[in-house]
Amino acid sequence: MNQAGAGSVEDGKGTVRVVQLYPRDMNIYGDWGNALVLKRRLSWHGYTPELLEYNVGDPFPDDVDIILGGGGQDSGQLVIQDDLQSRGGALKDLAEDGVPMLVICGLYQLFGKFFKTRTGAVIPGIGVLDVETHGTDERLIGNVKVSTPEFGEVLGYENHSGQTTLGSGVRPLGTTPKGMGNNSTDGHEGARYRNIVASYLHGSLLPKNPAIADFLIRTAAERKYGTFLPGHPDDHYAELAREHAARRPR
Ligand code: GLN
Repeated sequence: MNQAGAGSVEDGKGTVRVVQLYPRDMNIYGDWGNALVLKRRLSWHGYTPELLEYNVGDPFPDDVDIILGGGGQDSGQLVIQDDLQSRGGALKDLAEDGVPMLVICGLYQLFGKFFKTRTGAVIPGIGVLDVETHGTDERLIGNVKVSTPEFGEVLGYENHSGQTTLGSGVRPLGTTPKGMGNNSTDGHEGARYRNIVASYLHGSLLPKNPAIADFLIRTAAERKYGTFLPGHPDDHYAELAREHAARRPR
C-alpha cells in the first residue's frame, strides 16, 4: 500500500504526453499555467509527464495523450489559421478517438465551425465542435462562476469579443450564475463533446479547477493504460485560489 502523503511525487505508472497547441501565438492570461498544472498533477498521480509544444510549421507529435489549446488575440488566430486547417483532420480523428482535450477561448472558437471577427473576416475553424462564433462590439470581461454537472463550480476569468452559440452536437460545460461565458444572452458557458472540455475561462483555468485537470488525466490514463490509479495530489493552493477567486466581484 502506498503510504505517501498529499503532494508527494510517485512514479512508475507510465508516461502521459501532453501537447500544447500553438503556445507561441495562442497563450494569453496565463493559459500556460494549464500545462504546468497537468505536469505537476501527473507527477502526484504517479505518471511521468512529457510536455511538448506544437507551433506553426512543426512536425505533429505522435502518441498524443492530452491536448491543450489556449486563447489569443484575433491577430494570433489569423497567424495560426492555415496551419490549424492543415492539422484539422488529425485533430478531429484524435477527438473522435477520445483523446482528452482542453481548449480555451481563441482555440475553443477555432475548434468550432468558424469565427467571424468584428471586422467581418471569417477565420475558418476545424469543425471538431458544433459551435460558431461571431465577433461583436461588446467585450465580455470579468470573473466568471460556472455551475457544471460534471466538475461542480468552475471559476475563471473571461475576456473576449467573439460570442459563441452551441449547435445540437455539443452540450454546454455549464451555466453562469456570475459572468457571461459563451455569449451575452443564453447563460451558457463552454462546450463538452467526447472528452473535450472547451471554455472561455482563462486565469489559468486548471490551477483553480483541479477537478477538470484530473478528468483530463484520468481519461488519458484510462485510454492508454486501461485504468487510472490516483495518487496523492495536494489541493491546498487550489483551494486557496478558489476561495480568493470566489470572493472577487465581477
Ligand atoms: N480573439 C478572440 C475574441 O476576442 C479570443 C480572445 C481570447 O482568446 N481571450 O473573441
